[in-house]
Amino acid sequence: MKLLRWIAQHAARNPEQIAFRTEDKALNYKKLWSRSSRLASFIQAIQLERQTPVVVYGHMGMDMPVSFLACAQAGHPYIPVDTSIPMERVRLIVEKSGAGLVINTTDNMLDFEHVMVLDMQVLELVLEQGELISDEYWIKSDEVFYIIYTSGSTGNPKGVQITAANLQSFTDWMTGDFPLGQGKVFLNQAPFSFDLSVMDFYPSLQSGGTIHTLEKEVINKPKLLFENLSHSGLQIWTSTPSFVQMCFPNPDFNQTMLPDLEVFLFCGEVLPLAVAKELKERFPSARIFNTYGPTEATVAVTSIEIQEDLLAKEKALPVGYPKFDMRILVVDESGNPLAEGEKGELILVGPSVSKGYLGEPLLTENAFGMIDGMKAYRTGDAGFIQDGLVYCLGRLDYQIKLHGYRMELEEIEFHLNQSKYIKAAIIIPYAPNEEIEYLIAAVVPAEHNFEKEYQLTAAIRKDLALHLPAYMIPRKFTYHTAIPMTMNGKADRKKMQEEVFA
Ligand code: AMP
Repeated sequence: MKLLRWIAQHAARNPEQIAFRTEDKALNYKKLWSRSSRLASFIQAIQLERQTPVVVYGHMGMDMPVSFLACAQAGHPYIPVDTSIPMERVRLIVEKSGAGLVINTTDNMLDFEHVMVLDMQVLELVLEQGELISDEYWIKSDEVFYIIYTSGSTGNPKGVQITAANLQSFTDWMTGDFPLGQGKVFLNQAPFSFDLSVMDFYPSLQSGGTIHTLEKEVINKPKLLFENLSHSGLQIWTSTPSFVQMCFPNPDFNQTMLPDLEVFLFCGEVLPLAVAKELKERFPSARIFNTYGPTEATVAVTSIEIQEDLLAKEKALPVGYPKFDMRILVVDESGNPLAEGEKGELILVGPSVSKGYLGEPLLTENAFGMIDGMKAYRTGDAGFIQDGLVYCLGRLDYQIKLHGYRMELEEIEFHLNQSKYIKAAIIIPYAPNEEIEYLIAAVVPAEHNFEKEYQLTAAIRKDLALHLPAYMIPRKFTYHTAIPMTMNGKADRKKMQEEVFA
């Protein structure tokens, strides 16, 4: 695979160049390559069936990139699982994916029934002195390179399978069509279990760059965050628009703080016009790109540079022109193609589209298909195309984006309804100005012994925290005697919303 070959070449030609760094540690290309190759050899020796998934558990430590590349060199897809994911969900992922191995890059003890756990810490000798793996074992083009679990409406996460060919097509587009150069410093803000991280990770490694990661301990403390950024030498910024917006309260967040910054890459949610305008003022010499895509089509499939004329002309920014090898169609509810300018569902067709959800033939059949011999994916996003430019108008269903995180409201509702304190519940996004600010749980409570409402809320929150990451837990809870119904017996979200905001 070209990507792996190029990383190996960087390691041979430029061994001391830093490939990956955190707040206090750095890994050069030589070490990244040799350690991952030795770990690959170790994995190979375990003799898992080829392509058995391997869960890589951790946050943003040095062992994460080593483990990802080791899996790829041994021919196994990896499943990145961040430490912010509750243990019960981690267990579900391990079980549902049929993982044959869990690589634990943390200090915590992990234990799964019937699945072997490799603690990276005890492998030090192997990583320093073990055998390197032969390239004959490397992942092949049509094999699965990684699997990312996203929120699913049945209450269970769905594993999106991305092949080596999908990833190579994406990485070639990024390094070819964007001004990313060679050997640049890339920001990595997103945890590895979110595919936005792929947008900087592999383009950086393919172009011999340095990945500068921000761990959550740094992101959560503004003083640390800005100190970190001022010493980063960042050249390519990749984040959600929400994250850059979070930096705006600091007036010093500008070109003086990041003098080398050349490019902003955004993906994952709407890039508000106001955010792009403010960035232009703060970083007059940096170029801004909006990109769009779902995990199912490998990170992003459209892009556009946001220039002054666009800012002056548009009320809502377009998500861009399709990637050179992708076709984007707009269809009506029956799947018929719509004319230019007409609003419908966005369908993505081409080599970036995933082969489907792991072990979920029905879900895969519903969302994926073939058009003119190419893989196609129904995004569930509303949009239209005008003069070749794609505009995304948000979700057709209940999948939403909150602060850059994708989630399906039904999944949160599913877990709410499992709580013994709840008879029925629905989630209402609070979006005073288009963008969702937080979630409200409208709850019909079951019998309980709490005196005060806040005690009930605390008990429900505790239940939810067993299953859901913190960012999916509603900020506000309101209590009602019943959920209103529509004529055909479905929960009437509109009416409930009116009641909540009354
Ligand atoms: P994820 O799979 O987490 O990357 O989420 C994919 C969804 O995020 C898409 O289907 C869109 O609904 C939304 N999305 C991604 N990029 C953009 C963008 N630039 N503008 C608007 N929505 C976006």
